[in-house]
Amino acid sequence: MVLAELGGKITRALQQMSNVTIIDEKALTECLNEITRALLQSDVSFPLVREMQSNIKKIVNLEDLAAGHNKRRIIEQAIFSELCKMLDPGKPAFAPKKSKPSVVMFVGLQGAGKTTTCTKYAYYHQKKGYKPALVCADTFRAGAFDQLKQNATKARIPFYGRYLKSIPLRRYEILRLSLYQPSSCMLRLSTKCILLFGLDSESEVWFSYTESDPVKIAVEGVDRFKKENCDLIIVDTSGRHKQEATLFEEMRQVAEATKPDLVIFVMDSSIGQAAFDQAQAFKQSVAVGAVIITKMDGHAKGGGALSAVAATKSPVIFIGTGEHMDEFEVFDVKPFVSRLLG
Ligand code: GDP
Repeated sequence: MVLAELGGKITRALQQMSNVTIIDEKALTECLNEITRALLQSDVSFPLVREMQSNIKKIVNLEDLAAGHNKRRIIEQAIFSELCKMLDPGKPAFAPKKSKPSVVMFVGLQGAGKTTTCTKYAYYHQKKGYKPALVCADTFRAGAFDQLKQNATKARIPFYGRYLKSIPLRRYEILRLSLYQPSSCMLRLSTKCILLFGLDSESEVWFSYTESDPVKIAVEGVDRFKKENCDLIIVDTSGRHKQEATLFEEMRQVAEATKPDLVIFVMDSSIGQAAFDQAQAFKQSVAVGAVIITKMDGHAKGGGALSAVAATKSPVIFIGTGEHMDEFEVFDVKPFVSRLLG
């Protein structure tokens, strides 16, 4: 359900309740059930919705409602403050300072919009007078460096990364290299093939070997830009199509080596009820300190934002509202909730 639709449904539920002559427990429960359904359809996770429902029941005093106060307004205010509370984890995200170099690492699943958002984030800060730089530590997705390079060039932001190289190797070379460069995914895969299928050492089967080590590239990029006095060094990391142990291990290693001041979790707003679990899985692997929700344009749903905040205990700082560099908005809780409620 798009944001406007959610607002409309909540407004209708409140309207229906206002029309009832006596507001009793039953009328309030019916109204809250309607609102619950609307929130669930908007991808707010079930435990969050349940918690919100019981909090509202505690806040709203039925006697006040019976005394002829503006019922709709009382409940609307309770919903408003509950939604704001859910979106405010109580501590602001780290804010980079112009005087000293900050490292900001981006994490998220493949396709979430990480690379696009890295450039948007850099561009936003560049306009504010920062000196940002982009490091592509995504050595998993072919073309990731090209994409970052293209975006960075357009925005005139310095960048660092390496093209992936595919070198054909024989079995004994792969086994030898896997001892020295165990971080390469293709190498790991190739080694597994050899061990599983016992391919002949001199056979005509050749394997691709990607030379790049994401940790090494991330460290090289961060070091270079620190020397060049950049004050905002943004590290784009690899994603995967789903949550995988290898992705989380790689993220942990990059974080350990680059010691980011802030880790931003990038989440696609259209992932539905999976938002809570996905955000929680990332938070358990790296110290996520902020969230950016992408693709809030089009068929965007608002509920994922609430789930991501609850799962990471970190604030949403920006939302992506399109594919272009400047389709990026600062996330502000109260106006967002006002829009949500229509
Ligand atoms: P990554 O794999 O996480 O690095 O994702 P990409 O940055 O490559 O983005 C995947 C796709 O989503 C690309 O086609 C982007 O143009 C698109 N995209 C990213 N952010 C947004 C957004 O806020 N709105 C829309 N409509 N598309 C977006």
